[in-house]
Amino acid sequence: MKEYDVIVVGAGNGGLVAATTTAQAGYRTLILEKHNLPGGCATSFVRGRFEFEPSLHELCAESTSADLESTKGIFADFGASVELLHEDTLYRTICKDPTCSYDVVMHTGRENFLDDIEAAVPGSRESVGHFFDLCKNIDDAQVYMNGGKNGPKINPFALMSKYGDFMRAASHSTEEVEKELGIPEKARSIMNTYWGYLGVPTDDLSALHFISLLTAYMQVRPTMPYNRSHELSLNLVKAFEGFGGEIRYNSEVTKFLYDEKGKAIGVVANGEEYRARKIISNVIPNNVINRSDASKLPKRFRKMANVRKFGMTFVTVYLGLDKTREELGIDDYSVFITRNKDARVQFDTRADCGYYVVNCLNKALPNATPEGTSTLFFTIPFMPGDFPEDLTPRGYKEFKNTIAEKYIKDYEETLGITIRPYIEEISIASPVTFARYLGTPEGAIYGYDTGSWDNVVGRTALEPMEYNIPNLFFCGGHSTMGDGFPSGYITGDRTGKKVVKELRKEDK
Ligand SMILES: Cc1cc2nc3c(=O)[nH]c(=O)nc-3n(C[C@H](O)[C@H](O)[C@H](O)COP(=O)(O)OP(=O)(O)OC[C@H]3O[C@@H](n4cnc5c(N)ncnc54)[C@H](O)[C@@H]3O)c2cc1C
Repeated sequence: MKEYDVIVVGAGNGGLVAATTTAQAGYRTLILEKHNLPGGCATSFVRGRFEFEPSLHELCAESTSADLESTKGIFADFGASVELLHEDTLYRTICKDPTCSYDVVMHTGRENFLDDIEAAVPGSRESVGHFFDLCKNIDDAQVYMNGGKNGPKINPFALMSKYGDFMRAASHSTEEVEKELGIPEKARSIMNTYWGYLGVPTDDLSALHFISLLTAYMQVRPTMPYNRSHELSLNLVKAFEGFGGEIRYNSEVTKFLYDEKGKAIGVVANGEEYRARKIISNVIPNNVINRSDASKLPKRFRKMANVRKFGMTFVTVYLGLDKTREELGIDDYSVFITRNKDARVQFDTRADCGYYVVNCLNKALPNATPEGTSTLFFTIPFMPGDFPEDLTPRGYKEFKNTIAEKYIKDYEETLGITIRPYIEEISIASPVTFARYLGTPEGAIYGYDTGSWDNVVGRTALEPMEYNIPNLFFCGGHSTMGDGFPSGYITGDRTGKKVVKELRKEDK
């Protein structure tokens, strides 16, 4: 039996940052990762002469307030800085709804975005500006709640009296707030394009969550690493090992261990027992429950995991093309294509080209592929239950191919370009692929659904009550902040610091 101060299960974004934080603080830390590579979603894969980015469309590396955590700040604290390229274009969004069609390119920077929206929907500038103004009070409230050195504090009276916009945005959906501000329907449709990044349509998505996301991307500009997101993960591993941390690949944790009082004390991987004072799970709570003696777990913890809905997953199509993007007539990095102006209808018609995004990495990063070639990455939303059950191996292939063919055709028709004859490599990932690589139920890539009652505010307020297994901590996309690279890193940072604080207290 091997003993550590901290064991981290899973080397996704959250796990890598949590582990590096505890290793940096001098604690003997072990990461156990089931795959033979670090990063989870943050990785890359090679087909023929192409190295594909499997997940990251755009990284929001900085925060809208200097007092809030950010990816950049976390990496810098580890000395793991990665060079990032910035995009000036936020997105191109094409809506084919006959009652509200548009094809607009939205740019980064507040004034540019407002100019774009005013040009597309005359008279909308002021109300959209008011929407972005809400971000300041939301940021201030979050800084207040983070509580600086003394830890988190949530005093409802202070929140109500000083942070009114935060409270209003927290308790209403994005569309309720937009309508209240008088934002015209077409402008709402254009600015709600990013709902897919949070996996919940805007009539059910907390305004606070969406305002924070859109303002951050708009204000600080989306970024990409030069060498796929795998570069970010490798840099974290390097920092982690530099602080003396140990990482074991091909080591799936099959059991979480508890003492007679229900305190987490260790795990089992490859039939070997590992013990630690603190365990951090980058693995979704449902899988911790499946790997635990249920009688040792608090009822509330089990109920919490069972009552939550799994969030969005995707079918993704990666194409390596033997022509350059210029030859093919592709002008944009991110193109969102919808058939209806309304996010709810886009969500409901997701199986029929209702909402999808296509990225051409060569636009952001011209050298992303060998000379004379380019790459496209289609992301098509799926929800738990969308994927047919009981497919034969042949049926599975046919299902994936049918989807790829349908979306490639729709993209060609929408943009008036031809790409099919130039496909040199094609790879299609489905919810089954994500379930296999990430180990998540239904292949959920966004953890739990952050719609309605289970939004970030409720999760944050209830966190101490819900994550109540002594010595067991959680971080990652399934955690309080929902999905995304930054949320993974930030929850990893917070969890790592919390664990260090507990260990120091015990050591006094
Ligand atoms: C197609 C796609 C597009 C995306 N686009 C974006 C985007 O543009 N911007 C953005 O910010 N986010 C995006 N995301 C979301 C983002 O990638 C995730 O939210 C984030 O990476 C999740 O990080 P995590 O810490 O939860 O770890 P995960 O990536 O879920 O990794 C968990 C790790 O734990 C390991 N593991 C699981 N079970 C075990 C076990 N029992 N024992 C040991 N190890 C185990 C897994 O192998 C994996 O390495 C996208 C995701 C996908 C899939």
